Amino acid sequence: MTLTLKAVHTLNVWRTRDQPMHADIVLLNGNFVTMNPTQPHAQAVAVKDTKLTEVGTNKQIKRWINKKTKIIDLKGKMVVPGLIDAHVHMAGFGRWLTRIDLRGAKSIKEIQKKVKKQVQETPRGKWILGRGWDQDRLAEKRYPTRWDLDKASPHHPVIINRVCGHMSVVNTEALELAGITKETLSPPGGQIDKEPKTNEPTGILRENAAMNLVWDKVPEPSEEELTDTCSLACRKAVEAGLTSVHWLVYEPIEIRVLQKLKAQGKLPLRAYIIMPVEFFGCLRDAGLSTGFGDPVTRIGSIKILVDGSLGARTAALKQPYSDDPSTRGMLICNRRELCDMVAEAHRAGFQLAVHAIGDRAIDLVLTAFERALKQMLRKGHRHRIEHASVLNKKLIQRMKKIGLIASVQPHFVISDFWVVNRVGRARAKWVYPFKTLIHEGVVSAGGSDCPVEPISPLLGIYAAVAQKSFPQERVTVDEALRMYTINAAYASFEEDAKGSIAVGKLADLTVLSDDPRKIAPNKIKDIVVEMTIVGGRTVYSRR
Ligand SMILES: [Zn+2]
Repeated sequence: MTLTLKAVHTLNVWRTRDQPMHADIVLLNGNFVTMNPTQPHAQAVAVKDTKLTEVGTNKQIKRWINKKTKIIDLKGKMVVPGLIDAHVHMAGFGRWLTRIDLRGAKSIKEIQKKVKKQVQETPRGKWILGRGWDQDRLAEKRYPTRWDLDKASPHHPVIINRVCGHMSVVNTEALELAGITKETLSPPGGQIDKEPKTNEPTGILRENAAMNLVWDKVPEPSEEELTDTCSLACRKAVEAGLTSVHWLVYEPIEIRVLQKLKAQGKLPLRAYIIMPVEFFGCLRDAGLSTGFGDPVTRIGSIKILVDGSLGARTAALKQPYSDDPSTRGMLICNRRELCDMVAEAHRAGFQLAVHAIGDRAIDLVLTAFERALKQMLRKGHRHRIEHASVLNKKLIQRMKKIGLIASVQPHFVISDFWVVNRVGRARAKWVYPFKTLIHEGVVSAGGSDCPVEPISPLLGIYAAVAQKSFPQERVTVDEALRMYTINAAYASFEEDAKGSIAVGKLADLTVLSDDPRKIAPNKIKDIVVEMTIVGGRTVYSRR
């Protein structure tokens, strides 16, 4: 026995001497911020296959070079662990990208021009979709109408969404397809604008209830179209420096598309798949649960929706909205249902990702988790609350006690500039209290909620570091980076494989033009992603 062991040992030594170590890739002359406490900084790394084999100085890493090794000179640029977005609607993002971008439109004329151009490139019968206009930027200082759009598109149905997504303007063709006439009444929770004299619909539709009358007529994309749009979304994500996304899926077809992209080698990043609760029964019956998969695509959590949004005043608050005392928002599912669903998914070994924005919704979710854990204690469940927006000290302490993850989207603090009006100053102090969450020891994972917010994790980091309304809740650059690296990796049970730069971890790296720790906070938003590397493969390079 001893002899055999000795022999193996000797063999290893011999092999090492005869076949010198070599790496597939080395990255030299970098400023690596590793997020690894035992070795916080490094100058260079060596990559073999998909993993990091050494992290250290240029001198140490140069030993790994042989004639096959690809050498990347970072020229002093900063490298962080591959950035992770813990909450993104990739298919929705892809579709959003393919719509006419009207964000910069300065007049209705300009909108018409852009719509007309699209009409010329689109076969008759297909829909023309646009997004991003803002009447305050338009020279005419009014909303566009159906008649404006008819001039640009007399035959193709058109929908253009306002920048906030809470208003659509449609043309006559679209109104006709949706069957909206003078006689059509506004649905509850929505409004169909009408001309005062003639009662003709103007084409302006407010809130989902009204907008969906037309949006429901837009055909679902084919698998081929969806493949293209998801592929486009992935490209934009890696351009933004992301190496992994927690991908919120809506329909089974999206998972098929993901599988196809992966098989064709067209998936440039890793996806942790968050699925709607409607899929739960099938998954459980098939014996699947969170974590099944591989480092590229993996079954993630089960998503449950508990309330709406602050923007639409549908997030469930304990006390009425400050700017509309007639409402405290709404719960989408009832207490019993939620508790049962949470308990069942928890028992089946799933991680839950529960969308809860208002304090009333969060309170309810906490109760559901407390009960489920009482019935069946499962250590390391890592259940998450998505958004977790309107908090207070007590709620945070309960989150901490249960061991919940706050899956937060820092860019909301910039977009939701109206939050003080919505909930009043006292409550607004507890909306996205990033610093307090960190101090109380709740793991916070960073995400975008794209396409609601921009995909860029750097904009998220900027928002968390430089927010203006509540400076006491600003976090440091290191804390913000943790949200988008090691904490987001923790939120998918993958902190041993990614989220920091360390030997044995996946070679997922993001190279930045500037070091966010060394520039003024308001300059962080101007940082450019130079290169994105996933498993040692350069999936994006600016040059
Ligand atoms: Zn979302």
